[in-house]
Amino acid sequence: MSKYVYFFGGGKADGNRDMKDVLGGKGANLAEMTNIGLPVPPGFTISAGVCRYYYQHGKKYPPELAKQVGRAVSRLEKEMGKRFGDARDPLLVSVRSGAAVSMPGMMDTVLNLGLNEKTLPGLIKKTGNPRFGWDTYRRFIQMFGNVVMGVPHHAFEHQLEEIKRLVGKRNGVKGAARLEQEALNRAVPDTALEEEDLKKLVQRYKKVYRKHTGEDFPSDPLDQLWKGIGAVFGSWNIPRAVKYRQIHSIKGLLGTAVNVQAMVFGNMGDDSGTGVAFTRDPSTGKNRFYGEYLLNAQGEDVVAGIRTPRPISELRRDMPGVYRELISIRKKLERHYRDTQDLEFTIEKGRLFILQTRTGKRTAQAAVKIAADMVKEKLISRRTAVLRVEPGQIDQILHPMLDPAEEKKQKPIATGLPASPGAAVGKVVFSAEEAEDWHAKGEKVVLVRVETSPEDIGGMNVARGILTARGGMTSHAAVVARGMGKPCVAGAGGIAINYRKKEFKSGEVTVKEGDWISLEGSRGYVYRGQIPTVEPKLSGPFGTLMKWADSFRTIGVRANADTPRDAAAAVKFGAEGIGLCRTEHMFFEGERIWSFRKMILVAEKVKDLRARIEDSTGDEKKKLEKMLSAPLKQYRRALAELLPLQRKDFEGIFRALRGRPCTIRLLDPPLHEFLPQDSKGQKEMARRMGVTGEEIRATIAALHEFNPMLGHRGCRLGLTYPEVSEMQVRAIIEAALNVRRKAGISVRPEIMIPLVGHVRELEIARNDAEEVIKNIFKKKKVKKNEIPYLIGTMIEIPRAAVTADEIARVAQFFSFGTNDLTQMGCGFSRDDAGSFLGDYVKLGVYENDPFQVLDQAGIGKLVRMAIDLGRRVKPDLKIGICGEHGGEPASVEFCYRVGMDYVSCSPFRVPIARLAAAQAAVREKQK
Ligand code: PEP
Ligand code: MG
Repeated sequence: MSKYVYFFGGGKADGNRDMKDVLGGKGANLAEMTNIGLPVPPGFTISAGVCRYYYQHGKKYPPELAKQVGRAVSRLEKEMGKRFGDARDPLLVSVRSGAAVSMPGMMDTVLNLGLNEKTLPGLIKKTGNPRFGWDTYRRFIQMFGNVVMGVPHHAFEHQLEEIKRLVGKRNGVKGAARLEQEALNRAVPDTALEEEDLKKLVQRYKKVYRKHTGEDFPSDPLDQLWKGIGAVFGSWNIPRAVKYRQIHSIKGLLGTAVNVQAMVFGNMGDDSGTGVAFTRDPSTGKNRFYGEYLLNAQGEDVVAGIRTPRPISELRRDMPGVYRELISIRKKLERHYRDTQDLEFTIEKGRLFILQTRTGKRTAQAAVKIAADMVKEKLISRRTAVLRVEPGQIDQILHPMLDPAEEKKQKPIATGLPASPGAAVGKVVFSAEEAEDWHAKGEKVVLVRVETSPEDIGGMNVARGILTARGGMTSHAAVVARGMGKPCVAGAGGIAINYRKKEFKSGEVTVKEGDWISLEGSRGYVYRGQIPTVEPKLSGPFGTLMKWADSFRTIGVRANADTPRDAAAAVKFGAEGIGLCRTEHMFFEGERIWSFRKMILVAEKVKDLRARIEDSTGDEKKKLEKMLSAPLKQYRRALAELLPLQRKDFEGIFRALRGRPCTIRLLDPPLHEFLPQDSKGQKEMARRMGVTGEEIRATIAALHEFNPMLGHRGCRLGLTYPEVSEMQVRAIIEAALNVRRKAGISVRPEIMIPLVGHVRELEIARNDAEEVIKNIFKKKKVKKNEIPYLIGTMIEIPRAAVTADEIARVAQFFSFGTNDLTQMGCGFSRDDAGSFLGDYVKLGVYENDPFQVLDQAGIGKLVRMAIDLGRRVKPDLKIGICGEHGGEPASVEFCYRVGMDYVSCSPFRVPIARLAAAQAAVREKQK
């Protein structure tokens, strides 16, 4: 018989922490904590396999489940010395979800299950605390109604508000009948409700329940339990949970497990409470106990952000004994798990219970600091430290912060909790839908909400940052923003949001929808307007961790950079050279575009005349040759104008690289991309070139192609306009010589021929380039090895990949252009595929967008084949990648595995690639 139910309690558990796939993260850790002797209330976990079964069998359970649950309930009753549904001393339980990967706020929880009209008096009698009993009961009705039966939250909230107004009036709160909800909550907190008030509230809640469900609140505890279990399994597939998994690429799980656990009560008075804590600061990574708690409250109050909790340090004063115990548990957990933990605790009448522990989610900054610190503390090895930081996450550290000098000049209009670091500058919107709409129109937005809920996930995902008026460091907004790497200021209590008027007020200041604000998420400041941002520092723990990463890494990391500034940034981020310098970008800058356009205008004429000369004889030929002389002169003049400009660019790049290799790609895009497409631009071009508008339009028409991406581009340009390649090769080699001779910096240019599909293309292009170089070397008396250059090719056409052995005979290196290789290999247009690729990913045709994450099964196979064929001919052939995938962690790991020498990506992603490459090497060693 399959085992579906796993018990924990009495110092022993059926499971342990390695059983996350079966028990979910929560269940596995409850078992583990039980096993290591921590004070965990007993309970049992229904395995995630049941969730899979439930969905595979039309929402039915395995037949053996009922018996196994029944047995676990009996065991729990024995352990607790209480019985489910016992009118004298009832056992109450919580029912919580918990998948193998934690999904905060995504799944549902029901607390206080087991209460009814019969058991309530028992609970009251046993605890001697009627107020507590009624408070617990009303919470249960509300939570059960909302979570299990889908009664809207606000229907209950409305009744609570009404009662609070009555209490306010009784207690002499001025204007209690008319106070705004915020003010009412401040004047009449939940704790001001007395037994009689709560009794009234229970009656009203039951009415609400009946109105919305058409039935009475269920009184049978077992019925309640099964409904609760069903709700947890049901919540696995609610839209917000599905969306969360989509955003976080969580795939391949069986489902959620269900944890049924004896209740302990944090709402039994001021000697009780509940809280959450991190063993280290999740925002900065500082080694200090970090958390929040509320007295006389249940767990949901902290997470939901309804009351703003107090910092954990105050617990030292409130309950010194409990605090000491908590500190010792903090130590024990870190020593045991060897990582920062995020725990939930409850204090029931001065007795501490731990309800959950999991690996603490942290910002990138914190992840780096914690990893580096734990090595120093001898908790983990350097290898583990390198594996601890998610490469994609360090993007957060590499992104800008508010310029401190500019920030100093401004006064914050509000402050809140520093929930997630970094700077966010954007226009204010007040709803998630608006955030998505505005974002779609290209606006940068900051989402401002009283508090966020899981329904807001889409809006949060597109917002630059998030500001909330309510809630703590562990509120939904804070947790989700940190996970997404978005700056967030939470619980900015000084701001009053008016959704109807679409504005918020902070003191005298009113900020309306569409106004700019700047958030500083590391300190919790909100500014009006746009504050400039600055680049981050890369020293400290980050530098240390990257040094360790580099010591394990065996594959090189280069950057794609086209300007001296980008080259310098790349070196700063640790690039070991440039893997792709796209020369065409240089032609767009300032006035040069005009020289380039001049060149295109006559190049077409020259090409046309040359073709006609070839096809003609005698007088006709002579006439044509005469006709060619003027445009040819103009063509050469235009190229001569471009030569020094391009040479200067290369000199700047070579200087910035200080001896590192530099792969420079000859002109790649189709020429029409350089011409003005609108009539205003065309008129301007006609004026500057001294020709008619008609002539310009004719050139544009002549260059028009139906499929330009498959058209006259890449090496095809160099073969038909050889003078252009000649100019570029000259600029590269002359720049190299100048830098070598004037600055004494060695230069290692690698000339790269794009879009080769046939070896013959490369042969022609290489011969042309060698000829130019030979002449320069002769003229400038270049010594052997003074400029150690290479000539190689991109592999970005499937035909090149499958004939890589032929191509390798002529190429001195390969660089995989996986953007084009994906385009041509999958048959997806790079420019248009956005319209359906999202759906393709949703449908599961492709697991990820193949332009972002290399399609290893398809395009990867072409890559492997090309490497294999190429190295058969030239065993030491240098091979790299320069498509976008070169900075994507999973693709970097693939490049390492297939034996590339380096990856190349945008400068900002260089550290990500360095870390991903190091992790690949460490993982390989661990195998
Ligand atoms: C590629 O195709 O992968 C590549 C790097 O070239 P580009 O993106 O410039 O076409
Ligand atoms: Mg390409």
